[in-house]
Order: sequence, then C-alpha cells, then structure tokens
Amino acid sequence: MDDCIFCQIVAGDIPSRTVYEDDDVLAFLDANPLAPGHTLVIPKDHHETLNDLPEDLGSEVMAALHRLTPAVEDAVDAPASTVAFNNGEAAGQEVPHVHGHIVPRFEDDGGRTIHALVS
Ligand code: IMP
Repeated sequence: MDDCIFCQIVAGDIPSRTVYEDDDVLAFLDANPLAPGHTLVIPKDHHETLNDLPEDLGSEVMAALHRLTPAVEDAVDAPASTVAFNNGEAAGQEVPHVHGHIVPRFEDDGGRTIHALVS
C-alpha cells in the first residue's frame, strides 16, 4: 500500500535498521524505542491487523518472533522481554500494518504492564 509507512520500509523507500529479513518477514529497530533493542517484526505483505493475516503468514511471523526474541535479548543483555501486538486502533495500534513488538526488559525498568509499554 502506497501510504503505509511499513510498506515503504519494506520497499526501501524509508530507511530502517534491519534486524532480520526473509522472503515473507522483515524485522527492524523501532524508531522510538521503549528500550534498547526494541524491534518490530512485520509480514512484508500489507495486512492491517492479525485478523486479516492469512494463517500461514501468521506462522511465519510467529516463527521469526520465536527466533528473534532470544537474539534481541542477548544483543542488549536483557533478562526478559515483552512481546506484544497492538491489534486494532482501539488497542493502540498506530501503524495499520501488522507488527509484533519485541521490547527488551530489565530488572530495574519498573515492571510496567504490557499496556503501558506499547500503547
Ligand atoms: P503501534 O502503536 O503498535 O502501532 O506501534 C507502532 C510503532 O511503530 C511505534 O513503536 C513507533 O515508534 C514505530 N514506528 C513508527 N514509524 C516508524 C518508522 O518509520 N520506523 C521504525 N519504527 C516506526
């Protein structure tokens, strides 16, 4: 979609810091990180929410999250992470292209809830 910022990142029209890429999935650093290493994982094809995502592509996104979460934690020496999707505008989804957040968490970060972190 021409006016989708994440589609423009996939197309290379907007710069991003790529963490991982395969045929179906792209992961890149969040431009406004909630913690060092905050990473977004998206399907390359445009689908607005998880509800619109074909199951096989959802599996690809989940597989990437599964591989990347420990790698991101290792990269920033985080003992844990919050992994979440804001699914729909009312849930705080600002960019209408499915994306999973990997937010590294640290012992001293206050233990904020998922909602406070990613919406
Ligand atoms: P949402 O609120 O779940 O939709 O999260 C959207 C995320 O996209 C936010 O964490 C933003 O910081 C991030 N974001 C928006 N534009 C860009 C960009 O151009 N590059 C990287 N991250 C972005």
